[in-house]
Amino acid sequence: MEKPVCAECSTPIEPGDEHLIIKASKKGKTDTFLCAQCLAKARTALEEQTYNPNMLMAVMGGLAGAVVGGLIWYFFVILTGWQIGFIAMLMGLLVGLGVVRGAGRKTGRPLQWISVLLTVVAILFSEYLIFNHFFHEVGGVGNLTIAQFFEVYGAYFGEGAGFLDILFFGIALWQAYATPGRKALKGTVVPAAAPQVNK
Ligand SMILES: [Zn+2]
Repeated sequence: MEKPVCAECSTPIEPGDEHLIIKASKKGKTDTFLCAQCLAKARTALEEQTYNPNMLMAVMGGLAGAVVGGLIWYFFVILTGWQIGFIAMLMGLLVGLGVVRGAGRKTGRPLQWISVLLTVVAILFSEYLIFNHFFHEVGGVGNLTIAQFFEVYGAYFGEGAGFLDILFFGIALWQAYATPGRKALKGTVVPAAAPQVNK
């Protein structure tokens, strides 16, 4: 039988050496292997992913994602007239990706909470812009105050129209939390065989 070859460095993997197998997800595809050296590198890279993230840029990246998500959401609602929050789900993902990028492709718990916090702010701010738009449309003068916004917004949820939105926001927050989450090693590690005493 031919020896499996490392997917990274093409070194044949000796039986008994430590290696990683990533089982093929589809039939007809072959499994992927990593040799001991490349496996060690992958482990180091995974450990470094949470090390020393750039927090300021993480916040900036998350805000950039929030602005993009907010604009898409705002114009979608204004153009279609549908006040549904399903685009909020996109918000969680965009903010999460922005945080990861900004942090220098880093992940980890602090970034996850930054992402969640920014997503909450982004959703509320987008909703404010949307409600303010409709406030003007019905002849409202000036801008909604924060207190007025929460009054209208609370009534919107109270009427049950916002029921689905709660679900969408839940998914958005989950996306925001999961996206900067620490990535784990995929596949199964086959440990090195114990050295044989008798040859
Ligand atoms: Zn290798």
